[in-house]
Amino acid sequence: MKMISLLGSTGSIGVNTLDIVRRNPDRFAVATMATGSDVELFAQQVKEFKPALISVFNPSKLAELKELLKGEDVEILSGEAGTVKVASHPDVSLVVSAIVGSAGLVPSLAAIQSGKDLALANKETLVVAGELVLREARGKVNLIPIDSEHSAILQALNGEKQERIKKIILTGSGGPFRTFSREQMENVTVKEALNHPNWSMGAKITIDSATMMNKGLEWIEAKWLFGLDTCVEIIVHPQSIIHSMIEFVDTSIMAQLGIPDMRVPIAYAMTYPDRIKCDFPSLDLAAMKQLTFEEPDYEKFPCIKLAQEALQTGQTMPAVLNAANEVAVQAFLDEAIPFQGIAEAIRTTMHNHKCHAIDSLEDVQNADRWAREEAKKLITVTH
Ligand code: NAD
Ligand code: MG
Repeated sequence: MKMISLLGSTGSIGVNTLDIVRRNPDRFAVATMATGSDVELFAQQVKEFKPALISVFNPSKLAELKELLKGEDVEILSGEAGTVKVASHPDVSLVVSAIVGSAGLVPSLAAIQSGKDLALANKETLVVAGELVLREARGKVNLIPIDSEHSAILQALNGEKQERIKKIILTGSGGPFRTFSREQMENVTVKEALNHPNWSMGAKITIDSATMMNKGLEWIEAKWLFGLDTCVEIIVHPQSIIHSMIEFVDTSIMAQLGIPDMRVPIAYAMTYPDRIKCDFPSLDLAAMKQLTFEEPDYEKFPCIKLAQEALQTGQTMPAVLNAANEVAVQAFLDEAIPFQGIAEAIRTTMHNHKCHAIDSLEDVQNADRWAREEAKKLITVTH
C-alpha cells in the first residue's frame, strides 16, 4: 500500500488524483491532505478518504473546517506550517504536489527534505527554484513530473541516457486564441480566456495557456528536469494528442500519445516506473483523422520569450517572472487589466528587477515578494 500525501486536493489535479486512489483502493491510501481555502469540498474528501492529518492554508477557514469535520478522527492544522507537516508526515512515501503557484515551493522542499518521492504537478516550484529543488532531490528522492508534456518526455525517454537526446519537442495546444489576430486579442474577455479547447484545468493555468506563458513555464520545467543544455523546441499541436516528443541523436523520434486526460500522467507518476491498468477510453486514431503542427507565434504570445529570457538571465529572474505572472493573471481574472496587460506587467517587472544569485530559499522568497509588490504597483499605476 502506497501512502500518499496530497497537497492541493480540492483543485483540478487534486480531484483527479483522488479519482486514481478511489479506483485503486488496494494500491493507494491517502495519509495526509492539504488545501488552500475550499473547506466544503475538502471536508467531503476527508470523510471519503480518511486521512490521519490535514491542513487548510487559510487560517480564517480553520474553525469552519473543524465544524464540518466534528466527530471525525483526524488531526487538523492550518497555515504554511500545517501544509509542511502534511508533506513530511512519517507515514507518507509519496507526496503529490498539486498546489498552484509558488506557494507550492516550501511544501515541496519539505517533502524532499524528509525523504519523500515527489510527484510534481506544481511546475512553479521548478520555475522559481529549479536549482535549489534539484540540489535537494538529486540522488535522494524521485522527482516525477505530472505535467502531461514532461510525463510524455519521461515515458519517451524510457530509461535511455539523457545525453542521447538531440532535442525535446514540447507540444502545446496554442490555447483558445491560437487563430485570433492581434487586434482580436486586445478585447478578449475573462470568459473567453477561461475556455480552453482541450483541457479542463484550474483558472490560473488556463489563463497561462491562453497567454502561452504555460509553454514558457514548461520550457523552463523541461530544462531543469531533462538538463539545462538540452535543446527544447516548442511546437503548436492544436489537437493535444501528442503530449511531447524526443528526437534522439540518431534522428529517431519517440512520441507519447493519448486523449487529453490528466489522470493518465497522474497515475504514471503515482506508480512510476510501473504502470497500472486504467479503464479510460482509448484514443481512436481513425476518428482523429489528422494531427497538425505549426510554429508558435512569438509576437502574438510574448510570454513564451519572456520565460525563455528569464531562464537565460538566471539567478532570481525566473522567480520574478513567475511572481509577476501570478499577480498579473489574478489582475486579469479580476478584470483589473486587459489580456495583453499580463505580458506588459511581467516585462516591466523583469526590466525593473536587479538580479542576484540564489543561495537559499530566502533569496527566492525575497525575489518573489519584491516582484509581487512591483507588479501590483505597476498594475495600479497604469490602470
Ligand atoms: P487549481 O487552482 O484547480 O487547484 C489548486 C489547489 O491548490 C487547490 O486545492 C487549492 O486549494 C490549493 N492551494 C492554493 N494555494 C494553496 C496554499 N497556499 N497552500 C495549500 N494549498 C493551496 O489548480 P490546478 O489546475 O489543479 O493546478 C495545480 C498545479 O498543477 C499548478 O501548478 C498547475 O500549473 C499544474 N498543472 C495542472 C494541470 C491541470 O490539468 N489542471 C496540468 C498540468 C499542470
Ligand atoms: Mg502541461
